[in-house]
Amino acid sequence: MPIAAPSWPQATTVADFRHNLDVVHARIAAACARAGRDPRSVRLLPVSKTVDEARLRLAVEAGCDTLGENKVQEAKGKAEAMADLGIRWSVIGHLQTNKARDVARFASEFQALDSLRVAQALDQRLAQENRTLDVFVQVNTSGEASKYGLDPIEVADFVQQLPAFSQLRVRGLMTLAVFSDNTELVRPCFVRLRELRERLRPGLPVGVSLDELSMGMSGDFEIAIEEGATVVRVGQAIFGARATPDSQYWPGSAG
Ligand SMILES: *Cc1c(COP(=O)(O)O)cnc(C)c1O
Repeated sequence: MPIAAPSWPQATTVADFRHNLDVVHARIAAACARAGRDPRSVRLLPVSKTVDEARLRLAVEAGCDTLGENKVQEAKGKAEAMADLGIRWSVIGHLQTNKARDVARFASEFQALDSLRVAQALDQRLAQENRTLDVFVQVNTSGEASKYGLDPIEVADFVQQLPAFSQLRVRGLMTLAVFSDNTELVRPCFVRLRELRERLRPGLPVGVSLDELSMGMSGDFEIAIEEGATVVRVGQAIFGARATPDSQYWPGSAG
């Protein structure tokens, strides 16, 4: 079944943001009802990349207290400009080790961990800042060579190494589904992440939890919830359609 082509008007007032958040929360609740899940078991992470400070302030007034950003540079600039608001920042995009210090300073959460080098760099910088960071291990569930994230078969070994990094709080797994409007292609990516988590659970090292599954975006979050998502990362359905093509964020994606 194809997903209906979405139209996402720009939110430009606090009332717009309240409305869009209500709609997304209602869709989350409906998906949870279908799946026999408690809606409180799903966290909505608003994703604010490309959205400017003025509109972000409106979104915060409408109730957003955590914001997700794909690029460290952009997130850092916003975190500094809006330090007065006490926002929690979640970095959800690929990280290079030379940006680890920035993330260690301003982020509360990092969802795209996919290398020991990055884990090491973050751990070191976090220790210097006397901070800890919630992290998600990113898994490539679509099999697309261009996508970031670990191959599912690498994840078991990878998580065994993570207790060495005492400043990292390992919370779960994150994935991006294949970019398609065909649910029959999208759903198996989410199923793969959940099944991987179930396989890994019995052998997890002490201190490593994989309770969280971050999966689902504006176009596919209901399917993700049906398949067990505990965090959905939603940008355009809250803020409005983005002009920037997704290929800027995910190498290899169409558009
Ligand atoms: C932008 C982004 C999202 C949200 O995508 P929307 O289409 O705006 O909902 C989710 N996850 C990641 C990693 C992103 O970069």
